[in-house]
Parts: sequence; structure tokens; C-alpha cells
Amino acid sequence: MQKLSCENHIFSFSKDEPPALRAKSGEAVRIETMDCFSNQLGAGHGRTGAFDWDRVNPATGPVFVEGAEPGDALKVDIEKIELAGDGAMATGEGLGVLGHKMKGIYEKIVPIHEDEAVFNDRIRIPLNKMVGVIGVAPAGDPVPCGRAGSHGGNMDNRRIAEKTSVYLPVAVPGALFALGDIHSVMGDGEIGVTGVETPAVVTVRFEVVKGMDISNPFIETDDIVATVASHEDIEKAIAIAVEDMERLLADETPMETPEMAMLLSAVGNVEVCQAVGPLKTVRFAVPLWIYYIFFDR
Ligand code: CA
Ligand code: ZN
Repeated sequence: MQKLSCENHIFSFSKDEPPALRAKSGEAVRIETMDCFSNQLGAGHGRTGAFDWDRVNPATGPVFVEGAEPGDALKVDIEKIELAGDGAMATGEGLGVLGHKMKGIYEKIVPIHEDEAVFNDRIRIPLNKMVGVIGVAPAGDPVPCGRAGSHGGNMDNRRIAEKTSVYLPVAVPGALFALGDIHSVMGDGEIGVTGVETPAVVTVRFEVVKGMDISNPFIETDDIVATVASHEDIEKAIAIAVEDMERLLADETPMETPEMAMLLSAVGNVEVCQAVGPLKTVRFAVPLWIYYIFFDR
């Protein structure tokens, strides 16, 4: 299996970024990732202190996936997330929902012991390993890895975990995929602006889905299918995610809008991925069994 070292990292998703690796459709690749601080705090350094905010949110890549063309979707199966060090967190003045109640910046190393994150002497948190940044290059201007958008990016979606498939809209030849910002634990919303940021090695398998023309990412887990949308205004993000789901289902099995609205009202869940980035990210999740009725599977 090919392995991509975290020495190959980007700070923006860009169509002009030279590929660090080429992969075939169907191929699995192991991707080594730094934490979102470029391992300045955690990863065994065990130190806190001033760190360089210009080096936050690296993503390892880009990977050129052969055969991926604009108008296709890139399906990325998250097969395995292996943590490769201790976690780190930061928050502080002006950061996140409680930022107005703090002065200065606070950092914390969160050791990982087996399947728990050791938050402090009293609190150990069960791991919920997930991928924060995952995306492809956009057709237009480069997008910093700290942002989310139609190309994916910093979605901080807790459901992008082992055994999840992520579908991304391909905008440039080869897709130019990259991934990073693994969290060993994070809550929906990421209210303090970081999860437990942890270096890792992630095994992904690529598949080019020809002609699957989607405008935003969506995910399939072992229990839900969810559209994922990002916008400065969280209400608009909700509207995009819901309409994407409506279209996804109605394209497969036509249903009048009132019937669809009632069905999605009955079974769909609007869930917050992250509420603290420049663009907020939500997912609109329907149970897999509902999705399968539409797709006759
Ligand atoms: Ca993130
Ligand atoms: Zn992160």
C-alpha cells in the first residue's frame, strides 16, 4: 500500500498544487497527518507556549486520483484512523462561543491512553476518532485548509469517522485530494475552536464515481446518509443541506414536494458539525433505511 508522509502538506486546497502522490480508483492509501497545530504542541513534544498560528490546519496531499474529472464524484472510504501521538487543544480570547469570557490563549496537552483521552485528573473521555479536514481542490481560487465549503475542507464533521464514505464533488482533473486535522475526540459544534487535535495515520480508499454530479459533499455511515453544507449564515447552511437531500432523493424516486417535506420533517435530523469557523457547517441526516427505500437497495 502506498503511504504519503505528512511532509507533503498544504495550507490551501488549490488547483495549482503539484500532486504529492498518484492513486488509482479502487486503491487504498495510508496518509500520515500532523495535528492542526502542525504538531507544534502535541505529538510527544509535551510543551505548550506561543505557537505559530500561520502554520495551523495543514492537510496532507494532494493526491491525484487517476480518472477523476469535473462532473464526477470522488468517494473516499475512511477505512482506518490510527492515532500517532497525544492530543492537544487550544482556546482563548475571541475564540469560539466562550471567547468573550477569556483573556489570552490557553493550550493543553491531552494524553491518549488506549481508548481514552485523559482530559484532567478526574475526566477521561472515550475516543471518537474523526477527520476534521477532508477535501478536493476547487475550480476557482485556492481555499485555505481552515475553511469549509463545497469542496469539503474544514468541515469538522464528527460523523466522518472509520467506516464512513465521503463523497466530494470533483472540480479539477485528478481531484487533488487532501486530508488532515484528525480529532481523537470532538463534540458537535466544536464550541472552543478545537477538538482533541491528534496526529494520525488514516487509511482511505478512493473510488471515482463517474458522472455523479453533486454540488456539495455528502456522507454515508453505517446508520445515516447526510448532506453537508457550509455557509457564513448557519440558517442558509441548513437550507442548502436540506435541499441537497431533497434533490438527491427526488432524483431517484420522484415525490411531490409536500410529501417529501413531510417525510424529511419526520425522519431527517439537522445536526451541527462546527459552529465556530468563518463558515459554519451542518449536516442533514436521514436514516440509511429510508435512503435505501429510495435507492431500492
Ligand atoms: Ca478543524
Ligand atoms: Zn482540528
